[in-house]
Amino acid sequence: MKTLRLILGDQLNHKHSWYNDPEEDIIYFMAEMRQETDYVAHHIQKVVAFFESMQNFSDWLKQRDHEVIYYRLDNKKNRQTLPENLISLIEEQNIEKFEYQLPDEFRLDRQLKEFCERLDIAFEAYDTEHFLTTREDLTHFYKGKKEMTMEYFYRDMRKKYGIMMTTKKDPEGGNWNFDKTNRKKWKEETEIPHDRGFRKEVSTTLERIEKAGIKTIGTIDKNKFNWPTSREDCLSVLNYFCKNLLVHFGDYQDAMHTDQIYLYHSRLSFAMNSKMLDPMEVIESVIGYWRAHKDEIHISQVEGFVRQILGWREYMRGIYWKEMPAYSHSNKLDNQNNLPGFYWTADTKMNCLHHAIKQSLDHAYAHHIQRLMITGNFALLTQCHPNEVDAWYLGIYIDAIEWVEITNTRGMSQFADGGLVATKPYVSSGNYINKMSNYCKDCHYKVSNKTEDDACPFNSLYWNFLDDKKEFFKDNHRMNMMLSLLEKKTPDELSALKERAAKIIDNPSNY
Ligand SMILES: Cc1cc2nc3c(=O)[nH]c(=O)nc-3n(C[C@H](O)[C@H](O)[C@H](O)COP(=O)(O)OP(=O)(O)OC[C@H]3O[C@@H](n4cnc5c(N)ncnc54)[C@H](O)[C@@H]3O)c2cc1C
Ligand code: SF4
Repeated sequence: MKTLRLILGDQLNHKHSWYNDPEEDIIYFMAEMRQETDYVAHHIQKVVAFFESMQNFSDWLKQRDHEVIYYRLDNKKNRQTLPENLISLIEEQNIEKFEYQLPDEFRLDRQLKEFCERLDIAFEAYDTEHFLTTREDLTHFYKGKKEMTMEYFYRDMRKKYGIMMTTKKDPEGGNWNFDKTNRKKWKEETEIPHDRGFRKEVSTTLERIEKAGIKTIGTIDKNKFNWPTSREDCLSVLNYFCKNLLVHFGDYQDAMHTDQIYLYHSRLSFAMNSKMLDPMEVIESVIGYWRAHKDEIHISQVEGFVRQILGWREYMRGIYWKEMPAYSHSNKLDNQNNLPGFYWTADTKMNCLHHAIKQSLDHAYAHHIQRLMITGNFALLTQCHPNEVDAWYLGIYIDAIEWVEITNTRGMSQFADGGLVATKPYVSSGNYINKMSNYCKDCHYKVSNKTEDDACPFNSLYWNFLDDKKEFFKDNHRMNMMLSLLEKKTPDELSALKERAAKIIDNPSNY
């Protein structure tokens, strides 16, 4: 039966059973499409990374004698939407059966389901063979439970896959979690070897995107592109991480520094989210490297890393499929303000925001704590509408695909889901930022001041947020301490803080 198999841009799984043997009568189809470049303004490096990776994947298939039709953005036959391209190809190639892998985004899942309902030929959907859980596993796991704390899911995953376990129920090293020994400030005491290997030239792909007039954000150096776009690149980033960065991953995973974009972070999210690397392969490589170098690398560094992938990544995917589509409209704190304009320019006197946003615009990257405790924290404290916050995160990061972006943004960062993912809102005053970074040292504002003209804006915004939302949080036991400190403020203190916060919220771009 002549079959058309669709491969989406984030389904570049070299190990998928589809590709075991070339089969006659199977045509693979991949396309660069405006429907994908235009649903949000993406970072230019993200569009380039996807197109380059797709082309490399298509070449890889062809080298293995698979038949591939690849539509570049400027191909005359490219109708720029998935249904239109598929319909015309099915006609042109006399296709008798259509096959696809289950998409990870709700938007595409719905589009393909609707498309198949209208088809008058046979069709079949396959698993992507990438994740370690099914779409529904998390829903079953938490059935009947009041809270969906990630920790229990993570422990269950460790047991299920026998990852770092001494017996069926005992974790290696005697602890499930080593967070207490992690999370230090980086004070330049260790070297961070930064050459991540390859630098590539991507001008042809870039020109095609520019010529099509696609609206993008951020900057790119077309001669020194250094995101992995092939299986070899991805493996080299993984090896680089094991050899050079794993040793301090846990120690400094929450640290921030003006001179360091990546610190000890792996930069593997794009490689995994595009499926060029599979999560178990990453986990096994890291554990394998650690076992061979146990005298140099402490278990805490490894457990901290495994938790992110085996725990958080799979957990977020489960939440996504459990809660969508309602999740994308959630705004439990009823926040309504606009995201400040400086999120697109980095033009602010607040040094922490300037650095986190500037590196996002320049590199399509910020690490977890910058996303959570700098840009996310400010957006939540200034009570921005989650739709705006979501659109920004979905566009700007190299790894931003909705299933993992929205759960982190609406859930973990903005508390828009009312506490499904995070048990308390991730908000802080300048104190935390000062504790974990060197940003405050050279800032225009003074982190120790509260209401003066030169006071750190995070300070008044923090107390104002707690006061504005105290009714919402009054029954949340994890908020007791914060709310009792709020109660201790005298009326004069609180009104001075709220006055300054109101000025900042009214005009954030002045700060
Ligand atoms: C507001 C916000 C938005 C985010 N948006 C995205 C997104 O669009 N795409 C994305 O992949 N991650 C997102 N994250 C999670 C995290 O910030 C990135 O995965 C990480 O910064 C990627 O860099 P890295 O590969 O160097 O990660 P490392 O710090 O080296 O971590 C290793 C891997 O663990 C996984 N991981 C770590 N934290 C998380 C998490 N919270 N959720 C899921 N996986 C995790 C990633 O696959 C990552 O590659 C977001 C976090 C926040 C707070
Ligand atoms: S003083 Fe405040 S605004 Fe400035 S860097 Fe520190 S936390 Fe950010």
